[in-house]
Amino acid sequence: MAAGWRRPTARRVRAIRDRLRLVYGRPLAEPHGHPIAELILTVLSQSTNDRNRDVAYLALRERFAADTWVRVRDAPVDEIEEAIRPGGISRIKSARIKAILRAISESGAGGGDLSLDWLAGQPVAEAQRYLTSLPGVGRKTAACVLLFALGMRDVPVDTHVARVGMRLGLFRPGAGFEELHDTMLEITPRGEELEFHLNLLRHGRRTCYARQPNCPGCALQRMCPKIGVR
Ligand code: SF4
Repeated sequence: MAAGWRRPTARRVRAIRDRLRLVYGRPLAEPHGHPIAELILTVLSQSTNDRNRDVAYLALRERFAADTWVRVRDAPVDEIEEAIRPGGISRIKSARIKAILRAISESGAGGGDLSLDWLAGQPVAEAQRYLTSLPGVGRKTAACVLLFALGMRDVPVDTHVARVGMRLGLFRPGAGFEELHDTMLEITPRGEELEFHLNLLRHGRRTCYARQPNCPGCALQRMCPKIGVR
């Protein structure tokens, strides 16, 4: 454990949650129920912005309209690449998408169908283990699928959440990606996974910028140790 760092108390986490809630509100969204779609969307989001990700996703859905995921799995990789080109690094992403869909089919899980709906009935740790066994799928992607698609208790830690959480002292300085996810899961109030994730993310995008955080204009300034801010 880093010298001087202590895991935040539940009271401190609630205080941060409340302050973020005052600024950004309380986001509510029902899980959409499409885990494969979320998985592919998360792959498409790598190294690009939300707009380009969505353009690439819609192009993929349009090109392989009916039975989309079966058709994408069986399509030549260059056809997938062409469809998702607006999302950037399309060669890598197309190969990854195809590899993931094939791995799901070949794993035989869910009765051999190309489906991840069965994850909804699994313990979270089991579902995480399965998802992270798929090619190129890490904890963040797995957490997106479990939380956004299925409403399960997991919390994605992306670059914004990691940075803001680190500066606020929620995470151990120097913690790796696995540890960040484990800690986030331990400290997030039950039932507030979506809210805590989204509001930390919003704070990272709107105030706690990577290079020059707007500390003078930050609603959390008085409770922030500003770890790592020079
Ligand atoms: S006070 Fe500064 S470092 Fe702390 S959360 Fe606010 S913007 Fe980020």
